[in-house]
Amino acid sequence: MYLVDSHCHLDFAPESERRDVIARARRAGVATLLTISTKLAEFPELIAISETDPDIWCSVGTHPHEAAAEKGASADEISGLTRHPKVIGIGETGLDFHYNHSPREDQETAFRAHAQAAIAAKVPLIVHSRNADPETVAIMAEEKPPAGVIHCFSTGRFLAERALELGFYISLSGIITFKNAEELRAIAHDIPMDRLLIETDAPYLAPMPLRGKTNEPAFLVHTAAFVAKLKGVAMEELAARTSANFFRLFSKAKPPANPS
Ligand SMILES: [Zn+2]
Ligand SMILES: [Zn+2]
Repeated sequence: MYLVDSHCHLDFAPESERRDVIARARRAGVATLLTISTKLAEFPELIAISETDPDIWCSVGTHPHEAAAEKGASADEISGLTRHPKVIGIGETGLDFHYNHSPREDQETAFRAHAQAAIAAKVPLIVHSRNADPETVAIMAEEKPPAGVIHCFSTGRFLAERALELGFYISLSGIITFKNAEELRAIAHDIPMDRLLIETDAPYLAPMPLRGKTNEPAFLVHTAAFVAKLKGVAMEELAARTSANFFRLFSKAKPPANPS
């Protein structure tokens, strides 16, 4: 049995600790990691990290927070960067109208460019949506990117249902374990097992009972156990299903040769 962390930020861990973070993940049974790009400017570092290990993959893209700083990045430029064999998806992109670190217009322009890049490169789109569900759905419906994932899903049923209709997968983070996440749990209960992914979004959002600590991929086991219970399946089944979903969606990635 092994787990896949479908969304983490290994480059945010201090370089001196990264090797230990990866080793602890492996010991915990988290065999495959997808480390997510937030800035094109720092993409070379992600490539370097993913090249250190056959089971670490990366994405390429600009986080909505950075949309203003990386304004003007074209779909061609982004799709071109997916030629590297370790780059298996595009993102994280999307809309964050909670923080609004970048103007909405810049976020929307960047989101469309990423969606077009995903079409050109034929790789999944990794979508971040916060306080922007109707706008996120509208752009997805207009641009029609290939199937991807709504990462760190933590909002409403509308986004979940529209995303599933568009062929997207839904990824649950440690938020699902939080005390006040009753509504989220009700939605997650109804997400089909063949569209479900799990993630840490490390170093953020450590799951219960580790909430408040610096998150790391090893902590995925807590979220996995929680989601298994929520879905009424054994941990082994949850692990097998979410891992199979990951490799079906991110078809450039290869399952681990020696998972434990
Ligand atoms: Zn995000
Ligand atoms: Zn992220």
